[in-house]
Amino acid sequence: MTAKSKSILLVLGGPLGPDSAPAQALSRAGYRVSELDSPSGLLQAIEERLPDLVIIPDRLGKERPFDLAAKVRYNHPDLAMILVGKSTTGELLLKGMHNGFVDVLSLPVEDTRLFESVERALAHRQGWERWLHKETGRLTGSLKQQLNELETILKQVDDGVLVLDRSGRLMMANRAVREAFGLAGREIVGLKPEELFDNGELVSALSNDDSASSTHVEIETPDGRCYNLRQTQIPEIGTIASLHDISYLKELDRLKGDFVNTVSHDLRSPLTAILGYVELIERAGDVNKQQAEFIRRVKTSVHATTDLINDLLNLGRLEVGMVKDMQPLQLQVIVGEAVEAVMARVEQKEQTLRMAVDGKVSKVTGSPVQLRQVVDNLIGNAVKYTPRGGEIRVMLREEDGQVILHVADNGPGIPAEDQGQIFDKFYRASNVGKDVQGTGLGLAIVKTVVDHHHGRIWVDSRPGQASIFTVVLPVS
Ligand code: ADP
Repeated sequence: MTAKSKSILLVLGGPLGPDSAPAQALSRAGYRVSELDSPSGLLQAIEERLPDLVIIPDRLGKERPFDLAAKVRYNHPDLAMILVGKSTTGELLLKGMHNGFVDVLSLPVEDTRLFESVERALAHRQGWERWLHKETGRLTGSLKQQLNELETILKQVDDGVLVLDRSGRLMMANRAVREAFGLAGREIVGLKPEELFDNGELVSALSNDDSASSTHVEIETPDGRCYNLRQTQIPEIGTIASLHDISYLKELDRLKGDFVNTVSHDLRSPLTAILGYVELIERAGDVNKQQAEFIRRVKTSVHATTDLINDLLNLGRLEVGMVKDMQPLQLQVIVGEAVEAVMARVEQKEQTLRMAVDGKVSKVTGSPVQLRQVVDNLIGNAVKYTPRGGEIRVMLREEDGQVILHVADNGPGIPAEDQGQIFDKFYRASNVGKDVQGTGLGLAIVKTVVDHHHGRIWVDSRPGQASIFTVVLPVS
């Protein structure tokens, strides 16, 4: 270590005056010595002059040397410090060491003692530097390894991942993104989305800088593939987007849609024909009592099969999200129409149907066809399961930004162990008589529709006494 390369900062005060003997001795020995008039500027002076050693006097006016040493140690733990005083008591020595000083000198000090102390302090500093260097190298190495691993994972992952910096320029795009958008082999880092992609939807999704939201859109590429893009803002970094290839799901949806249409046509048409011919039998000539009973059974079975097909088709359409007629609508109108349509059956069973519908409830956003299905199914079930002479109540009201529909009856109720499953496909409660027709799909359809409308549905029932179905939908 050459003295010349080392810089020493002396804080003036107490026993250390300007151009003091130690300052002169150190300068003569070749150290770069600088002095600081006021201890208050010490931290800044350290930042500017980058000393290897600071010499602090034990008297500094208002500032206490140990407080000053604590501040220095907090900001520059690697910096060596020596404390100087007029006389070195055992107590000062102990306190000095305790507070991070490498040595404590009493003035006047012999040059040899001064140099020996300074060299020890500088060696102490060098030890720190070596440790820091080693530790930084170790950390940087492990960071580099982690970065490499992360980069390999991102490169290999099948989903596309791209990151834009805070100014909206590309920082990184993995192999999947490059391949999907024909960017392989191009120098693309630093470009803006509009310079990279032709797809307007993709560009606008990536340019959405609303930090509170995360965008979720479907993007189609020129080669016909479909990607689900999820874009999220990350504070201090920028935008991260992932692209998941959902082409196979789209294809499945299309196949399911085709299947639904085929089934709808191929199964319903022959059933309509069967029903038509069965009706004709009776018109073609007299049938005996037994034949009439067989005809009745055929009709019942055909109706049950038609119901099943219709329910399956409905559910199929709902599950592939084939309904797109969402609009603000008045549920009270739908409820009114559904009640009117069911009244003939209610009268046939000599039941009473009471309506308590608040005509002023706010609009909800929904599909009129689907919501009519919900109301029809719930009221239809109430009429179907409630015995002759029973009572059905339909109530509609608004509360806390929600429209609430209750359909209640004093029928057989639903056993507690079945209540959790009646919304599942094909599930029929254990207390349903064999003669009561049904597919077990009605409530599954109802639940799917309600879920599509961001609503909730549940049942409260006292077996043997009553059932109340409640549907809650958010106001538009
Ligand atoms: P289903 O075609 O059998 O009526 P749903 O899916 O509409 O099919 O109903 C599922 C089951 O829930 C029914 O089979 C019945 O056991 C029970 N259920 C539905 N509504 C009522 C009701 N109002 N009273 C009693 N049980 C009911």
